Amino acid sequence: MKKKQMKRIISVLLCGFLMFFMFGCKADTDTDTMFKAGTYEGVGKGIHGDIKLEVEVDDEKIIGINVLEHDETPGVSDPAFELIPKAMIDGQTLAVDIVSGATYTSNGIIDAVTQALEAAGGDIAKLTEKKSDDTEKETKEISTEVVVIGAGGAGLAAAVSAHENGAEVLVLEKMGKVGGNTIISGASYNAVDPSRQEPQGIEDSIDLHFQQTYEGGDKLGNTDMIRIMVENAYPTIQWLETMGMQFNDHIHTVLGGMWPRAHSPVKPLGTGFIETFMNYIENTNGEAQVMLNTEATELVMDGNKVVGVKAEGPDAYYEITATKGVVVATGGFGASVELRNEYNTQWADLTNIKTTNHPGATGDGIAMAKEIGANLVGMEWIQLLPMGDPETGSLSGNIEQGVENRIFVNKDGNRFVDEGARRDVMTEALFEQKDNFMWVVLDKHSYPTEDVKNHFNESIEELVAAGRAYKADTLEELAELIGVDADNLVKAVEGFNKGVDEGIDEFGRTLYEDKIDTAPYYAGARVPTVHHTMGGIEINTETQVLTADGTIIENLYAAGEVTGGIHGTNRLGGNALADINVFGRIAGRNAATK
Ligand code: ADP
Repeated sequence: MKKKQMKRIISVLLCGFLMFFMFGCKADTDTDTMFKAGTYEGVGKGIHGDIKLEVEVDDEKIIGINVLEHDETPGVSDPAFELIPKAMIDGQTLAVDIVSGATYTSNGIIDAVTQALEAAGGDIAKLTEKKSDDTEKETKEISTEVVVIGAGGAGLAAAVSAHENGAEVLVLEKMGKVGGNTIISGASYNAVDPSRQEPQGIEDSIDLHFQQTYEGGDKLGNTDMIRIMVENAYPTIQWLETMGMQFNDHIHTVLGGMWPRAHSPVKPLGTGFIETFMNYIENTNGEAQVMLNTEATELVMDGNKVVGVKAEGPDAYYEITATKGVVVATGGFGASVELRNEYNTQWADLTNIKTTNHPGATGDGIAMAKEIGANLVGMEWIQLLPMGDPETGSLSGNIEQGVENRIFVNKDGNRFVDEGARRDVMTEALFEQKDNFMWVVLDKHSYPTEDVKNHFNESIEELVAAGRAYKADTLEELAELIGVDADNLVKAVEGFNKGVDEGIDEFGRTLYEDKIDTAPYYAGARVPTVHHTMGGIEINTETQVLTADGTIIENLYAAGEVTGGIHGTNRLGGNALADINVFGRIAGRNAATK
């Protein structure tokens, strides 16, 4: 079947028209001919397939870039489609920065424009040269009450909460867009919630959530912090709902989540959280603001008190005074191979392992806080998932809908682990398999119809059509399609189905729902990928940053993945969204009021 939605024709970009207006009539007889005037098409590879666009040039300039077709994820890829063509036209260059969180889309756009300009006779080497920025940047001073560093989930939760508590807030975000890792996450949020769990027959309690979090981190997590997180997880969902965020009623068990208590937002990926916070911020009449492309570089101290932040933007340096407090919410360091290698003691070698993270997850806040004496905890614990896309390491293309209804098989078609186990346990088992590679196998129970989407806004029909998932009417045919031994695959599924009936499993699996027995059957390839860094800045239950001897650094708060010590050795799936929202909210409130 043809992918209907894949052939979306998107409207001509506004910047194309604008630039046409600005440059279209200009004639500069001194300039050499750069291009052969006309309109040229180019194709590049995005994360979900081809990005097709056309580029209009006159003799001297790129006039317009119009995207014709693409199949990238809305919300996540939008900034790349807006910013990259604009930057190319503004700078008359191919040497533009990629947009964080949309790396593959960005590269696809750049490749497509390059192809079109090549066809137009452009000098690609010259167009890809970085122009040196020889203008001297001025230093600007800003004063506000609360500065939040990082516009991911934790930072934006903190910003909203600080404003709710009466403060003027400035959020600094180093990338060209908000959202960080939060916006590209699967967005499952663990909370004990009888109103949704009971109708599904799920028994749960705050104590069970506490216990599983504590034991899932090998009893190394800070029990006071875990208690705050599990007790506030559901009230924080209610807080988000009062701001208009919507969650589905269906509760699932997320990979490595150990229990069915994960809430999924109605909007795809983590876009719902970010949109909700940004809607709030945009309605504050400027009392809360976000500065993009502005990287915090230093925390400014006066004695034991943080009084401000130094930052750098595209056109200026900033010295920002924060009269009430600073919240560090810069996320983890999963995208920094250097930092991973500096701290990792758990895994053999993480140098060549891809990551689910956006490129800005480089541990900046950890370095800034360390510089002023903050204590770091648990830095050696780095979480990998067995669920990376083999090409990109990202979570997109993951066909699982919940833990209960899928199995993992290796290249021989054999199961090899309890697929409901902890993330570290499953990934360690995957590293033992041939080529560190596995197939997720499931059936129609996960996709009652072909247009049902996974947690990354991709329908199974699209994934199969793109060759990113395989579909067959029998397990034997599926085995042939994916190149595994058919007898082994059939035996693996029979073993799982027996577990569904009897609750006994050779790998100790306990989480079941339906048998895998209904065609069509599906398979998708997965490899290990770096996902989350458990370690970071030590904070107390009020999110105040601590030194090694337990002293509070005044006016300094931290929340989200930048902090350490909550999850011990291994964070449960679904606990990050609870963590960043619960502690982000507390940090914002305290920065505004303490
Ligand atoms: P969390 O889940 O803890 O909120 P995210 O990864 O979602 O973490 O968000 C962290 C945000 O912080 C990202 O948007 C990232 O680009 C931003 N960030 C990281 N370092 C800096 C910095 N030095 N200055 C400003 N923003 C930063």
